[in-house]
Formats: sequence, structure tokens, C-alpha cells
Amino acid sequence: MEEKRDIKSLSYEEVLTFAEELGEKKFRGKQLYEWMHVHNVASYDEMTNLPKKFREVLKEQTTYTALEQIDCQISREDGTRKYLFALADGNMVESVLMRYHHGNSVCVSSQVGCRMGCRFCASTLDGLVRNLTPSEILDQIYAIERDTGEKVSNIVVMGTGEPMDNYDNLIRFIHLLTDKHGKNLSQRNITVSTCGIVPNMRRLAEEGLQITLALSLHAPNQKKRLELMPVANKYDIHEAVDACRYYFEKTGRRVTFEYSLVGGVNDSEEDAAELCALTEGINCHINLIPVNPIKERDYVQSGKRAIETFKNKLEIYGKNVTIRREMGRDIDGACGQLRHRHISET
Ligand code: SF4
Repeated sequence: MEEKRDIKSLSYEEVLTFAEELGEKKFRGKQLYEWMHVHNVASYDEMTNLPKKFREVLKEQTTYTALEQIDCQISREDGTRKYLFALADGNMVESVLMRYHHGNSVCVSSQVGCRMGCRFCASTLDGLVRNLTPSEILDQIYAIERDTGEKVSNIVVMGTGEPMDNYDNLIRFIHLLTDKHGKNLSQRNITVSTCGIVPNMRRLAEEGLQITLALSLHAPNQKKRLELMPVANKYDIHEAVDACRYYFEKTGRRVTFEYSLVGGVNDSEEDAAELCALTEGINCHINLIPVNPIKERDYVQSGKRAIETFKNKLEIYGKNVTIRREMGRDIDGACGQLRHRHISET
């Protein structure tokens, strides 16, 4: 049996062509696309200006993805909302809405689970289940906009999963999100974070996109990185940093290095000096993240003083540094924890 088309993953042109293949005029395709990506409706039944017969054919021949909200934890401290959504096949993904002065930012997941095995991360505890489709990544944003009635202006692909391990779907997702016929988000408002899959980082540099690339670095040298991130076995720390340099050269976009501070592991002054040497000459921004402790691993957060000292040291070397504000500290904060808890409970 022919597989049903995932309508929300089709590009604008593909939707127009598909509508024509179904015997409809092109403008019906345009209306359909707008219902999905501008009006953000959850089902064909809400597309009231499309002929009923057309909607029936669409129901027969396509899948229309929509997420079911399973849980939503709301931080009393800062209004951060952490969502747990069920996909059509019963799998679950997490997404987070963070409210900043400059607008709403959503952190989306790109896979169900993750196979990268980073030692400080709860998302990988249950392994990789499957890739998310472009529509399922988009749906996280759309569901949150529907739930809150607020627009989202920034996207970080930094939730569960390694986006470079789901490369084609990631690229299609970015094109859909920034398509002028749809949500029309600026590419500059999108950040994609990778643990360092070097060939795809270099491929991304060639895509002609204006998004921000963030490398989860988390260590100042190969030895320490290997302890935290098994991906370093395959792609050496220097290769990953060089890929960032290449990304900047190709796109002109400043890259971000994410550095989770783990108490007693990578937060000494020597580590800071080594980090500066490693990133020497790269137009970058270093984002320090006080690591969220997870109970399945014995890593602890660096103390406030150690974090400040680390930051100061980097600044002395002329680095552009921020300490990531901890959002939603009073809810299951770290990526993957909410889903992991639900899986453990059921
Ligand atoms: S940090 Fe990212 S890449 Fe590493 S295991 Fe977690 S989800 Fe995967």
C-alpha cells in the first residue's frame, strides 16, 4: 500500500502541485498551505474555506500531524513552560517555551531519544527511538502557539536529539519555518546545536542559510571531552572546532560554543585558559551553562564562585561570554527529564 503523504512536511511548491494532482486549482493549494503554516490549525476540519470533498480526499490520502499535550509544567519563577507531547505513534517529545524580554523562544526536540550518549544528559538514557519528521518538529512550535495564544520569535533546536543525526529533516524544517508563504521566521532567529557531527556541520555551512550554529563543546581538550561525550571518539575536538571556523568563513555567522560547567570536572582556571587557546582566532560567543544535576548521573553543578571565576578568566582573554540564565529551575529543568520520568513511571 502506498504510504500516505505527510502534508505538513511538504514545501509550498509541493503542496500546490499536490493540490493540482488531486484535481484542484492552484489557489486551493495556497489556501491549504496557509491553513497549516499561517493560521496554524490542528485539523482539516478547521479549514472552513476548503470544499468538503477536497478535505475528505486529503484525509484519505495524507497524514495531518498534530501533537497531543500530555503534560505542561509552568515555572512560577519565570513563566517557563515545559511541555510533554505525544506523537501519533504514542512516542513522546519535550519542548520548552522560554519568555525573554526580546520575545518568546522555543526549544524543540529533533528526535525521540538520542544515541549520542553524552554523560550529563537525561535525553540519551533510553537511547534513540526514531527521527522526528519536519512536521513533528514544526508541530511543537505550532502547538505551543495554540496553547498560549502567543507568537514565538526564536527557535533553538537544542531539545532532545542530535539535529545533525536527522539532517535532511532538519533542513526541511528550517525551510518550512522560514518560508515567506508560511510562518516566515527570520533564519537569524534560529539556532541549531550539535554535539559535533563534523561532516554535517560542514555540510550545513554550504546550505546558504543564515542560522546560528552552536557546538556543545563542554570541555577544553580532547581527553576531558571524551569523558563527557562519546562522539569525540569519532570526531576529535579540534575537527569539531575547525568545522565551526569553517562555518563562520562560509556564512559570516558568529558561532556559539556551549560549555556546561560540571563541578570539579571542567570548571578550573586551567580549563578556562585551555578553552581560550582552543577557540583562539574564532569569531565566537561562549555560553556557559551551569549543568542541571540529573539523578541518574553523579555530576554536580559548579559553585557560583567557580562559575564567576571561569567567566572572568575567559573575559580577560577577550572572549565574548555569557552565563546562561537558568530557566524554569523549579520544574523538571534539564532536557529529557520530563520524558524520562514519564517513561519510568509508565
Ligand atoms: S546532549 Fe544532545 S546530543 Fe548529547 S545525548 Fe543529550 S540530546 Fe543527545
